[in-house]
Amino acid sequence: TDLKNIRNFSIVAHIDHGKSTLADRLIQLTGTVAARDMKAQLLDNMDIERERGITIKANTVRIEYPAKDGQTYILNLIDTPGHVDFAYEVSRSMQAVEGSLLVVDASQGVEAQTLANVYQAIDADHEIVPVLNKVDLPAADCDRVAEQIEDVIGIDASDAVRISAKTGLGIPEVLEAIVTRLPAPKGDRDAPLKAMLVDSYYDAYLGVVVIIRVIDGVIRKGDKIKMMRTGGTYPVDRLGVFRPKMENIPELGPGEIGFLTASIKQVRDTRVGDTITHEKKPCAAALPGFKPAQPVVFCGLFPVDAAEFEDLRDAIEKLALNDASFSYEMETSAALGFGFRCGFLGLLHLEVIRDRLEREYDIDLITTAPSVIYHVYLRDGTMIELHNPADMPDMTLVDHIEEPRIKATILVPDEYLGDVLKLCQDRRGIQMDLTYAGTRAMVVYDLPLNEVVFDFYDRLKSVTKGYASFDYQMIGYREDFLVKMQVLVNDEPVDALSTMVHRDRAELRGRAMVEKLKELIPRHMFKIPIQAAIGGRVIARETLSAMRKDVTAKCYGGDATRKKKLLEKQKAGKKKMRQFGKVEIPQQAFINALKMD
Ligand code: GDP
Ligand code: MG
Repeated sequence: TDLKNIRNFSIVAHIDHGKSTLADRLIQLTGTVAARDMKAQLLDNMDIERERGITIKANTVRIEYPAKDGQTYILNLIDTPGHVDFAYEVSRSMQAVEGSLLVVDASQGVEAQTLANVYQAIDADHEIVPVLNKVDLPAADCDRVAEQIEDVIGIDASDAVRISAKTGLGIPEVLEAIVTRLPAPKGDRDAPLKAMLVDSYYDAYLGVVVIIRVIDGVIRKGDKIKMMRTGGTYPVDRLGVFRPKMENIPELGPGEIGFLTASIKQVRDTRVGDTITHEKKPCAAALPGFKPAQPVVFCGLFPVDAAEFEDLRDAIEKLALNDASFSYEMETSAALGFGFRCGFLGLLHLEVIRDRLEREYDIDLITTAPSVIYHVYLRDGTMIELHNPADMPDMTLVDHIEEPRIKATILVPDEYLGDVLKLCQDRRGIQMDLTYAGTRAMVVYDLPLNEVVFDFYDRLKSVTKGYASFDYQMIGYREDFLVKMQVLVNDEPVDALSTMVHRDRAELRGRAMVEKLKELIPRHMFKIPIQAAIGGRVIARETLSAMRKDVTAKCYGGDATRKKKLLEKQKAGKKKMRQFGKVEIPQQAFINALKMD
């Protein structure tokens, strides 16, 4: 295809502003998918994505569009994730396209992720077309939101396209804007092959599928290619595009986006941002490339039933094949036995992986308290990266501890500002900025990541009735007075409940945790002390009183079916419990004990 008839773009938006719905409409209107195959949210593949309405991995689709100028254009859309955990994937897919549609819900206005994502588009030198969505809603106020886009983001919104992705209103105008307002890609068909590795995933039938953007040259089926960074060479055995189903094509030229397969065994053999060229006639210089995404949140995953350890290992290995940003290593815990210490991009990523293990692989899991990576400086001058509070060295050996901090941007309607400031303050935040965008306040805080990974987002949503939006980026490590807090149940330390806390907040946290645990642990035949301790010193304590455990005792004689039902219930309940010494702790307790109300 002639370069001048290609447009490559992404859609950037805050979550729920209608990105997926708009993508569906574009696909539908151009007949890329026959009406009978049309189902909502075509690009959101995984079940969890559909359920939670989020896009996790970047997806691409090729659309053919006969424009008003009489020419047919090829539009390549890269759909990017909208959640903060995956900001990194947004930034790299931006590099593969020349323009962006900036979708803003006209009834809501600019939100934190609108800003975060549009800045990435601006960084990537994109031409940006503002699109005001949901104009069908009575609360839509296009003029106000257009003004807000100009004030807050600083781009011209006077000719923003006004649409309803839901009803289809304005979709033809979006297609025309893509063709007339976004630039065509540049590239040289006769130069040596230079293509960007945009993404890759594992497919059970095809092996690793690599998504590429060709910059210069032409790639054909059968070519011997070389990955310039990893040095790997492979013969291309399949080349194609997503429409959105996979369709084979004989070649991809400059400006085009598509996929290849080449008997690559695992996703780890492909490096996102790598340059793909011909082995025989390579291009002179590689593309700048990207850093791999680093896990920032760690937790232990253990099977509730120790016999399922091998199943868990298989499942984790399979998931890791398709997700290079998910890391794992074996871990043994005195209380929980064999399991894995896993690293994630954020809490949502953690939840997604945990859900998939439980649902797709049917393994009941105990998830230990999520932890960030601490830098522990020892007196002898060495530094260790602490991923697991259970591995914390003896305090007498420690000189000081540094923790990761983030810059958090929060947009919130005026009336909730006070609650947001209080929340940030409670979480040891330092205010960096406070400005207004219309009736919304924009606050920027420097916060410790460990105060955020846990339930910050949930708390923020609840104190603002869902009206706040949030985005963050890492800013570095800083020293603070951190200690390891242990929890003892029936006088035995439960290492899976150990956490790192700030010394000033330890009593509060400790008290909250033992109170929660008292509610979460069912009563036993004996009395159970529950304690929080720092070093050898107990800082909070509760006692769970004893009770008779025979649940059938309440059924006086007769009703056999009811008795049986109760016993079954008890058995099912037991499956989700784990034995610690003499005490059974329910699976849910490990996460819930850490939530602060
Ligand atoms: P995404 O998170 O940006 O991908 O947002 P979605 O496309 O999943 O849309 C979020 C919600 O807004 C869904 O319930 C959509 O049905 C709804 N929605 C999207 N576009 C419109 C629109 O133009 N009008 C109305 N009323 N609802 C819309
Ligand atoms: Mg979506």
